[in-house]
Amino acid sequence: MIFRRRILGILFLSVFVQSICAQDIQYVNVLRAAVWDDAEITVCWENPDPSNTRERKLVENAVKNTWEKYSSIQFTGWQKCGTLRILSSELRIKIANEHPHTKGLGKELNHVEAGMVLNFDWDGCSFSNDYCIKIIAVHEFGHALGFSHEHNRSDCGCHEQPQGTDGDWYATPCDIESVMNYCNPNYNNGGELSEWDKIGLRKVYGPFNPQGDRVVAIIGGNLFGIEGNTYSWTRLMNGVTQASISDNRIGVIKRDKTAWVKEGGLDSDWVKVADDASKIQLSGNRIGVIISGNLHVKEGSINSNYDKLLDGAVNFSLSANRVGVISSDGKALVKEGALNSNWVHVADNCRSIELTSNRIAVLLNDNRLMIKEGSINSTYVHVADNVSESQLSNNRIIAMINDRTAWVKEGSLNSNWTKIADGVIDINASGDILAVVLDNSNAMLKKGTTNQNWGLLNIGVSSLYLPNN
Ligand SMILES: [Zn+2]
Repeated sequence: MIFRRRILGILFLSVFVQSICAQDIQYVNVLRAAVWDDAEITVCWENPDPSNTRERKLVENAVKNTWEKYSSIQFTGWQKCGTLRILSSELRIKIANEHPHTKGLGKELNHVEAGMVLNFDWDGCSFSNDYCIKIIAVHEFGHALGFSHEHNRSDCGCHEQPQGTDGDWYATPCDIESVMNYCNPNYNNGGELSEWDKIGLRKVYGPFNPQGDRVVAIIGGNLFGIEGNTYSWTRLMNGVTQASISDNRIGVIKRDKTAWVKEGGLDSDWVKVADDASKIQLSGNRIGVIISGNLHVKEGSINSNYDKLLDGAVNFSLSANRVGVISSDGKALVKEGALNSNWVHVADNCRSIELTSNRIAVLLNDNRLMIKEGSINSTYVHVADNVSESQLSNNRIIAMINDRTAWVKEGSLNSNWTKIADGVIDINASGDILAVVLDNSNAMLKKGTTNQNWGLLNIGVSSLYLPNN
């Protein structure tokens, strides 16, 4: 086994070895200089053939279900090299009857001919061919992301020979279960990332966020945000209990019940907007806050004055041109247009309300979800029972049911529900993004169609916020 494992290993043709600076070691084994600048890396095949279409798909799926699923990294393209022009990043794969290997780590492979070599019929691997293709691909793509062999580490205490360029950043403790560790008794960890692999990966490449959308999350009681092509979360505010984001603003309520809003970049300054606040929501240029039990809304600049809209408000929602509120006696009221327009009484026995520009969703005390679209006075459609929470985005409704399953309905109010997750404690939807927080505190996100794969945004998340529609 050891011999087989050893010869299976990557053969680095590039031989420069980084010196390891002691102060730099923090505790995956990464070569810092090899970390890609952009999370989107184009992959191409140098010599694809119709006879290996299936094997190439095995590789693509193995990568999708590992490195891509747990980080911001996206490997795109997967066509014959030269098909796509003017690429900032390009990982070139040659299919050959050789030991699988890469010619270096991470972005050292950019545009390098046969930068990765994969073997679709290799007798050096003693498992089934398909299994070997999958688990070797996962390992080699680890190198392609800049990860060195875990057993090369001086703190690992395993007896495999160090091989290939060493990393200079120990992003996690030595991990026997790593897909990059020859000492792992489970060869290439069965093609699965270990928990430390996932943590190290996210430390280097940040959370799964395919288009760099702005997302904020409460992690360990503090608010963090991420957007654009950055790989790391920005700490925004400590001691946060609730948040809301709109196109270019972020609002929070802290444990001391003060409410704060910032406008523009993640690093802009916070402005205090209320004391004794219990809920905040932002939409466009409006800021709504429940202050001392009463609903206040302001519009325009952050420093403008509030209009007090309702005494005794327990819940509310803002959309572009509407305000919806649940009064302390369970009435749902909606107003449209100016903040001083009249309330329209739209339902009784409600516990929450959600608005988009043309839909009103009320969740009744008996857990029925009722939605109307078009005018405020249109008729409700009873869309679901046993609902504990719901959210609206453009043409979608996402609902969490009392059994902790999450469902989505897309298009017409009469279309079918699709189940998207089990074991859910929080849901969110914005534009074409769906997000859930699972009962293991993993926040999962998908973008595009509802049948896309989930990616892991972060662990340890209690709440997650996407821009309000
Ligand atoms: Zn290797």
